[in-house]
Amino acid sequence: MRRELLDHSLRVGISFGVTSGIITTLGLLVGLSAGTSSRPAVLGGIFTIAVADSLSDALGIHISEESEGIHAQREVWTATVATFVTKLLTALTFAIPVGLLDLDAAVVVSIVWGASALTALSWDLARHQGLNPRPLVVEHLGVAALVVAVAHLVGLAISALSS
Ligand SMILES: [Zn+2]
Repeated sequence: MRRELLDHSLRVGISFGVTSGIITTLGLLVGLSAGTSSRPAVLGGIFTIAVADSLSDALGIHISEESEGIHAQREVWTATVATFVTKLLTALTFAIPVGLLDLDAAVVVSIVWGASALTALSWDLARHQGLNPRPLVVEHLGVAALVVAVAHLVGLAISALSS
């Protein structure tokens, strides 16, 4: 029972950290690129998300796990730390294409990387729960596509307003 709950805590932290790390960072990256066309601005945004948003998500998971009322402190903290570390690392992977490539190419590579990682995670999650992976993957990619589209539009609007 204890061991299962600890696994549960790790799984909560990792799946939340990866998903949120991909979707938040991708949204920010697409929005800031369209809005500023500036590599330092996009990189700064990624590092800010990696640190500040990971802390904020870790606290959110901490409180959410605590409110379930079934977890020992050690399990709650496992989920908290797993969320922080996983989201930090996931967000930082996006700094690689942005740091190395031309910004437009980096956006395309980031979208492909984010979609692939999200597909792999969703597939694994579905298999773990004995569900059909296909609808879950479609659903998660649909949400990610919506976030990217909205972020792009917001970025364009900001760029139009500030020029
Ligand atoms: Zn829980």
